[in-house]
Amino acid sequence: MILSVELLVALFVAEFVLRLALEIRERRATMLRGGIFSVLRLIPLVNDIVPLPESRKEIPESEFVCKHEEGHRHHRHSVLRNIYKVAMLLVSVWVLAAMLVRGGLPLWQAILWMHLVAIPFRALFHLYCWNQEYEADRYAFKELGKTKTKAAMHALAECEIPYTKLFAVMYREHPPVASRSKKLLNKEIRISGSR
Ligand SMILES: [Zn+2]
Repeated sequence: MILSVELLVALFVAEFVLRLALEIRERRATMLRGGIFSVLRLIPLVNDIVPLPESRKEIPESEFVCKHEEGHRHHRHSVLRNIYKVAMLLVSVWVLAAMLVRGGLPLWQAILWMHLVAIPFRALFHLYCWNQEYEADRYAFKELGKTKTKAAMHALAECEIPYTKLFAVMYREHPPVASRSKKLLNKEIRISGSR
């Protein structure tokens, strides 16, 4: 049997170790404390539902933010995102059923397998969302020009809790401002004090 309990245990240990390494790397890179959420992110299954705070303060309304949202609507991003989610849900149900019926796995094992299989797919979904964010950014950039975009990126960086790119791929649907500004202006805009 390929999906053995031994393999399942080994993968869960690997998940824990890798998440711990990611968490330590993140603390060092950002010099920010992770708090209770960083502990919860280490616990398999619990980490599927731990929220990730994204902003240190409310993002102020600006022309750029409005145009960015207009860009999302223009490209029908929310519809595409929902189609992607429904497709993933259907695949998950199919995989779960296959494990239960054809693999003969007990339900608890099938659920644990689903948790593991979902990890890379979630990261891919995040990258897909990032692509939409970049697209909406480009729309706003075209409408408003470089000066306003640059000012907006600085304002956004002020509001953002800084995360490294790798960490954000694992946990966030939004790319860090540093990545967004790099795409638009070829310059990584960060708030002073964080690397
Ligand atoms: Zn957006």
